[in-house]
Amino acid sequence: MTNNRPDILTQQAIEADGAHMWHHLTQHQPLDGKAPLMVVEGKGMRVWDASGREHLDAVSGAVWTVNVGYGRESIAKAVYDQLIKMNYFANSAGNVPGGLFAERLIEKMPGLSRVYYSNSGSEANEKGYKLVRQLAALKNDGKKHKILYRDRDYHGTTITALSSTGQLQRKDQYGPFTPGFVEVPHCMAYRSPNGDDPDFGVQAACEIEKVILREDPDTVGSIILEPITAGGGVIPPPEGYFETVQEICAKYGVLLHIDEVVCGMGRTGKWFGYQHYGVKPDIVTMAKGVASGYAAISVTATTEALFNEFLHAPAEKMNYFRDISTFGGCAGGPAAALENLRIIEEENLLQNVTNMGEYFMGRFAELQDKYPVIGDVRGVGLFMGLELVKDRKSKEPVDESVTAGVVADCMQQGVIIGRTNRSFETFNNTLCFSPALICTKDDADQIVEAVDNALAKVVL
Ligand code: PMP
Repeated sequence: MTNNRPDILTQQAIEADGAHMWHHLTQHQPLDGKAPLMVVEGKGMRVWDASGREHLDAVSGAVWTVNVGYGRESIAKAVYDQLIKMNYFANSAGNVPGGLFAERLIEKMPGLSRVYYSNSGSEANEKGYKLVRQLAALKNDGKKHKILYRDRDYHGTTITALSSTGQLQRKDQYGPFTPGFVEVPHCMAYRSPNGDDPDFGVQAACEIEKVILREDPDTVGSIILEPITAGGGVIPPPEGYFETVQEICAKYGVLLHIDEVVCGMGRTGKWFGYQHYGVKPDIVTMAKGVASGYAAISVTATTEALFNEFLHAPAEKMNYFRDISTFGGCAGGPAAALENLRIIEEENLLQNVTNMGEYFMGRFAELQDKYPVIGDVRGVGLFMGLELVKDRKSKEPVDESVTAGVVADCMQQGVIIGRTNRSFETFNNTLCFSPALICTKDDADQIVEAVDNALAKVVL
């Protein structure tokens, strides 16, 4: 952006937005009929607003999405080339990038072998739930139909995805919910009385077993978990947790569904978050980073064993997956995803994520020494959180005005950071960082300095 006056079309869009748009998670009153931030251009880690102001984006499009950064011409070109050749045909048929991306993706996920396309994280998760429900119907007349989810985890915005979400604030006013979803406790060490116990991870997983036994294992079909909980506070699992969850699932024939909507496609320094913990999921869902926001595509990936349950089920039981996703047949999605994956590989971005994640953690540890308000520094790769507390001993969360104040001050300094959402519970107090996988040391320094300046103003 060279000048700071919006062109005529942008000016028209700002007015039209104020008059007609209904923005997500937004109370429109303070906007007074005007558009919120209008983002008009992006390149690398940076975006420019309608006034020409530059922002360093430390959260990849606000919601952990633009993994390979803005302005990737090769992705735009791959999508263009595909769209003029063949833009759409329903997924009952195949398309070329759809098949090729499935193959490349499966290479990155040993143990999984089938790929189902749709358009959003919520939808991908719901496909996973439908597979579990239909499998139960095919195998034992629907008895093993219950789906477990964790307190604090988020799995999407549709009513059934919300039914499997452990965040009360997001669910409030949207009930009644879909039956058959059962909450289990989370594994957050920082807020557990026994969180320092070396066996805490195993103990937290065993809480899941208690719920399975209470509900009757013959009725529990699957459990869905975020590998590193995102919106619930950026919470990596404690040691031993996932390994024990895996054992429990195997013991009771419960399918393990990992929600990689945020962690997938390199965000944590491995292709998928679960790969840090040596587990073998039955279902993996992903969305945001799959095409870095260049196209809307999500994936529900499964094992061949699960696929075979449908393949070999008796025909009189309607033995095929009776789901349909109209836009799962958009060929531009996998075309973008193929190029996105190629970029991550060719630019060696997983290594950059690991290196830069370590660098950030060092810089955040310095900030923690300086500001007692930082109770906990957490993260894996380029996915990090700073939990702010009034007092390190009591761990009482700061008021929401503090996290909101830090975010607003960073914005003033030209750096966009995130925070967990307001909730009735205690997880409204974590600052979030998920820069693009191309983040450099200079970018990291600019982000940390902005947080440092903001904390100095807001809490000192
Ligand atoms: N799962 C997780 C872990 C998420 O964070 C989100 C979105 N933030 C979703 C699912 C839902 O994805 P979508 O908004 O694309 O439906």
